[in-house]
Amino acid sequence: MPTIFSRIVKGEIPSYKIAEDDKFYAFLDINPLAEGHTLVIPKVEVDYLFDLDNETLTGLTLFSKRVAKAIEKAIPCKRIGVAVLGLEVPHAHIHLVPLNKESDVDFFKPKLKLSPERFKEITDKISREFV
Ligand code: 5GP
Repeated sequence: MPTIFSRIVKGEIPSYKIAEDDKFYAFLDINPLAEGHTLVIPKVEVDYLFDLDNETLTGLTLFSKRVAKAIEKAIPCKRIGVAVLGLEVPHAHIHLVPLNKESDVDFFKPKLKLSPERFKEITDKISREFV
């Protein structure tokens, strides 16, 4: 059965898409730690990040860098934090989280509740900075 993230890539489940190419896809986390919290995934369905083949892992890292640069431009923050957990969704993904302080990347804290309009505004702001 395809993962929820593969279904997002196919458009079967909606997402706030930030960027996409033939191999990678970036979209806003639906339960964000901070405005601009983005997930970057390979389209290939592999559960564990470090089981990706070298070419895909390298490509995912470089694609994440481009996404992080776009988030930096769009969202006021000191830098973009990077986290890999993968305990919930068995499809490799990198969390990119705008940081102003260490606790911004505390996965135990309550997640933000954003309206669809706010998600859309954030999506537009970040995606227009993606190069
Ligand atoms: P992890 O597997 O890294 O522990 O957590 C999975 C992340 O994916 C969580 O931050 C969760 O909010 C996010 N997530 C789970 N399902 C969906 C979904 O259907 N859409 C989006 N945009 N994010 C999701």
